[in-house]
Amino acid sequence: MKTSDLLILGAGPAGLAAAIYADRAALDCVTIEQGTFGGQLGLTDLIDNYPGLENISGFELAEKMHAHAEHLGARFELDTVESVAWDAESRRFTTYGLAETYTSKAVIVASGGTPRPAGFLGEDTFRGHGVSYCATCDGMFYRDKLCYVVGGGNTACEEAEFLTRFASKVVLVVRKDHLRAQPTLIANVTENPKIELRLNTRIAALEGGMLPERVILEDTRTGEQHTEEYEPGSFGVFVFIGNIPASEAVRGLVDVNEFGEIRTNEAMETATPGLFAAGDVREKPLRQIVTAVADGAIAATSAALYLGAIVI
Ligand SMILES: Cc1cc2nc3c(=O)[nH]c(=O)nc-3n(C[C@H](O)[C@H](O)[C@H](O)COP(=O)(O)OP(=O)(O)OC[C@H]3O[C@@H](n4cnc5c(N)ncnc54)[C@H](O)[C@@H]3O)c2cc1C
Repeated sequence: MKTSDLLILGAGPAGLAAAIYADRAALDCVTIEQGTFGGQLGLTDLIDNYPGLENISGFELAEKMHAHAEHLGARFELDTVESVAWDAESRRFTTYGLAETYTSKAVIVASGGTPRPAGFLGEDTFRGHGVSYCATCDGMFYRDKLCYVVGGGNTACEEAEFLTRFASKVVLVVRKDHLRAQPTLIANVTENPKIELRLNTRIAALEGGMLPERVILEDTRTGEQHTEEYEPGSFGVFVFIGNIPASEAVRGLVDVNEFGEIRTNEAMETATPGLFAAGDVREKPLRQIVTAVADGAIAATSAALYLGAIVI
């Protein structure tokens, strides 16, 4: 059993920022990561919206964040956390990993999430090369190009409208016969001359060589398919059908919304004392690197206050 005052679950941007702030508060802290340091940064070719670091690759930013935390003395363990338990009497958490068991007085859950895939053929093949899950991140790469947007909720409507700033045209592909968004967002979409709404439609497949060249669309009522063909690289597909938060390990200790995203207050506190959540795993309006690191910094500061390490 390994013991520390604070355990950070996940070393994506939120977890690494939390580790940096925890080390600067001289907390006895360990960060557990199951995969590669930087989390979703590893899926990102080019980042152009992190203040002060124009045009940095996701890999390089991940390395910089990890090196910064290590430089300050952060301790890392490679392990997959399966569950976290809280003992109210001893006020300690026990974190069960595949390789080791850890005990701590406080825990920051920074396990992130993954964009929910649409499930069409070719989605994985063209991920990052024609298929994107982030308009804020990749919209500018589609200047004067055609964009298909998959989804019918608030995010899909917002992002479809955002993409019209760059794209020559946006085709909003909706499985159902209606949009499930706020009335103002629906009005923005339907009144925007650059957005074409395709109800009762899904993308069945995306085909091409290095870049997508063909979209195969299917009528969700009849199953009838047709193909739309373009020059390679002249269009892209953006998918906005939700986020899958990695919150299973702490279910039962936290309040979650209908999507499983952890509810916190502004101090990143959850329903259990000493348990904090930061980054994409929590309910929030904007899932970006800059908001993840901000959450991590706040969570570590709240944890330090909880542990009596700092007084504000
Ligand atoms: C394709 C793509 C492009 C993007 N582009 C940009 C961009 O240009 N600009 C921008 O600001 N944002 C971008 N984003 C969003 C940004 O990457 C995320 O908002 C950010 O990474 C969230 O950080 P996080 O630390 O909360 O979670 P994550 O990055 O998801 O990190 C969570 C970490 O926790 C680990 N973990 C999860 N479960 C466990 C477990 N049980 N045990 C141990 N470890 C665990 C994971 O392995 C991971 O390393 C992009 C996202 C994607 C998918």
